[in-house]
Amino acid sequence: MKSYKSMSKEELETLKSELEKEYNDFKAQGLKLDMSRGKPSEEQLDLSMEMMDILSSHDDLRCSTGVDCRNYGVLDGIPEAKELLGAMCEVDADKIIIYGNSSLNVMYDTVARAMTHGVLGSTPWGKLDKVKFLCPVPGYDRHFAITEFFGIEMINIPMTMEGPDMDLVEKYVSEDPAVKGIWCVPKYSNPQGISYSDETVRRFARLKPAAKDFRLFWDNAYSVHHLYDDDQDVVLEILEECEKAGNPDMVYKFTSTSKISFPGSGIAAIATSKNNLEEIKKQLFIQTIGHDKLNQLRHVRFFKDIDGIHAHMRKHAAILRPKFEAVIDILEAELGGLEIGSWIKPKGGYFISFDSMDGCAKAIVAKAKEAGVVMTGAGATYPYGKDPHDSNIRIAPSFPTLDELKLAAKLFTVCVKLVSVEKLLEQA
Ligand code: PMP
Repeated sequence: MKSYKSMSKEELETLKSELEKEYNDFKAQGLKLDMSRGKPSEEQLDLSMEMMDILSSHDDLRCSTGVDCRNYGVLDGIPEAKELLGAMCEVDADKIIIYGNSSLNVMYDTVARAMTHGVLGSTPWGKLDKVKFLCPVPGYDRHFAITEFFGIEMINIPMTMEGPDMDLVEKYVSEDPAVKGIWCVPKYSNPQGISYSDETVRRFARLKPAAKDFRLFWDNAYSVHHLYDDDQDVVLEILEECEKAGNPDMVYKFTSTSKISFPGSGIAAIATSKNNLEEIKKQLFIQTIGHDKLNQLRHVRFFKDIDGIHAHMRKHAAILRPKFEAVIDILEAELGGLEIGSWIKPKGGYFISFDSMDGCAKAIVAKAKEAGVVMTGAGATYPYGKDPHDSNIRIAPSFPTLDELKLAAKLFTVCVKLVSVEKLLEQA
């Protein structure tokens, strides 16, 4: 297909009126689709329905140490849940605390504790004049929302195909003691689906922070969320790498079963060093008498072990793969060669990241909305909602049916073309 950038003004004008017609035809269909968040579809949620009946009134509801899961007790999680999520996180069960239903909540608590009480004896961050976090971009809006909420200054770090730009990370972390953390999604990142290379993970582990209370906020949200059986990313285990590099306390690793069982009703965990775990447990002891052990038991009895989780994730993949492939195919077919956008074909995770020409993303998302397809707001993938290029758009293919998704993806490409033509005409 001919690149839009090589077209004359007249060609662009003609194209514009054709695209306007195509767009108006879509509008007339009265679509109503919400693709704004990475939610599993109903069909995916149905995969875990057996969990609803797995604990019955006739069952023994005690965990392996004999504690009755119906009652108070066990602050840091039942042993079998620690085993299961430990295996998912690739750490030993004794390096884990099982929390409640949301890993984001654990991340919030972790930042909040550092703000009020510091980290292993450091000055509470809230008492410092300035606290900064590095934010690989594009990234996850909810991470940025937490740091913004606490008044932490966020610094954009561009992503590469191997992970965050490590030259910049090393520079900021080693030179500025106000830099206290970095948000990382090491595997199938949100939104690009990029997995960190071994070199990136090793450079993270070997950082020499100016602040001794600097921490990696390592959000392992998509550790087992592969789309393919025969082409899966493997990321080096960060706790072990940090230990080897002499930085054993530098990382908090988060995980949850949100996109494995039920989002909002799964179980979450943190994995970290013994020193950090002890500090966290002191606070946890004040915060709660214990999390929902029946839900922990439900998850363990349903999945049994890590093989059970992998088998379950293959069922998710069978539903998700055709959706991801449909979007990629439509992007290739409609936009390939036009030089008005680029995208990454992910091997796992929940999103496809699209980059339009500079200055077009907001207008594209607005156009899609006007025709009935709600996407994640443009800018959401950047701290403060400000994409300096106004170009990144997060596509979430999981929730709609395959037919709806194809329609939405086609409409999206029409919006991309139309907005790009308008931009090029402006510049002509
Ligand atoms: N981290 C990332 C990177 C995510 O994409 C999501 C879900 N969109 C979460 C965390 C939320 O996890 P939870 O439901 O465990 O709070």
